[in-house]
Amino acid sequence: MLINLLSDTVTKPTPAMQQAMWLAEVGDDVFREDPTVNALEAKCAAMFGHEAALFCPSGTMTNQIALKVHTRPLDEVICDEMSHMYQYEVGGYALHAGIGVKLLKGENGIINAGMVEAAIKPRYDWLPKSSLVVIENTCNKGGGGIYSLDNIRAIRQVCQKHQLALHLDGARLFNALVETGDTPAAIGAEVDSVSICLSKGLGAPVGSVLIGSQSFIAEARRVRKVMGGGMRQAGYLAAAGIYALDHHVERLREDHLHARQLAAALAEMPWVEHIRPVQTNIVIFDLKAPLTPAVFLDYLSQNGVKATVFGPQTIRFVTHLDVTAEMVGKAVEVIRSEK
Ligand SMILES: *Cc1c(COP(=O)(O)O)cnc(C)c1O
Repeated sequence: MLINLLSDTVTKPTPAMQQAMWLAEVGDDVFREDPTVNALEAKCAAMFGHEAALFCPSGTMTNQIALKVHTRPLDEVICDEMSHMYQYEVGGYALHAGIGVKLLKGENGIINAGMVEAAIKPRYDWLPKSSLVVIENTCNKGGGGIYSLDNIRAIRQVCQKHQLALHLDGARLFNALVETGDTPAAIGAEVDSVSICLSKGLGAPVGSVLIGSQSFIAEARRVRKVMGGGMRQAGYLAAAGIYALDHHVERLREDHLHARQLAAALAEMPWVEHIRPVQTNIVIFDLKAPLTPAVFLDYLSQNGVKATVFGPQTIRFVTHLDVTAEMVGKAVEVIRSEK
């Protein structure tokens, strides 16, 4: 039994999802003639209370498109230093949008209105222009931490006061929503654009959706095309996304319970130095020297558990659709047996 805690991207389509994919009605989406892609986009736009949406191959692409459409070259985006957009998208903000970044030190990846306001540059000819704020909910590198709706509202007010756009990287937004009870529409009302990933905890094999106004998405569609992201019979993939949104949101709670169980076991171990607060499906912890990530991962792998290094002394576990309660029980035993 392999217990794969590497990432929530490793999930495979369930038989019912495969069935939905196989039965999808498709067409050429570049001509906007794929009814299933159109249905997914309409569903997502309505869910977040926005006018339009765009299906893309990855969350990197939806974020990069958002950066490009919200800014002009020589602008600056304000975000936390742990942001996916800054850390894990190959520095694409510089290539695709021609912009710089102003990094904030939030609390486990969560920033607030005061930090944002202090980071906005005055308008001088010799300074980059602050034009966009990106928040990440939940924040991956921060350990899956959640933004409160009040915090998002306050950031939104600062953005409006200074005429900055606000983009939400919601790769794992549904993990946050099942915990807070906030609705997608309540979050959607506070941001100019949202990106959601269907291929993380929701369990679809491929795909992300960018959501925003009609004019924003019209431009986003052009940028998707120039990036090579215009797909043809993409309805097979969109069908998996629709299925995931209909069937896999509520069950994210199970993943969160599993993450808390793993964290509780780790908390008892003398070789664990520190665990970031566990709010959703991510457990990030530091090993106490002399135990190293290489030795620890080797021990895990000999016992059928896969995880990833997340820093010089840091390990990340992620729970998801394909990690059962039984597997979590086994992983807890493996943790307890490490001396
Ligand atoms: C995974 C992820 C993305 C996008 O990832 P892709 O692998 O390109 O789909 C964006 N933001 C966050 C926070 C993520 O975790």
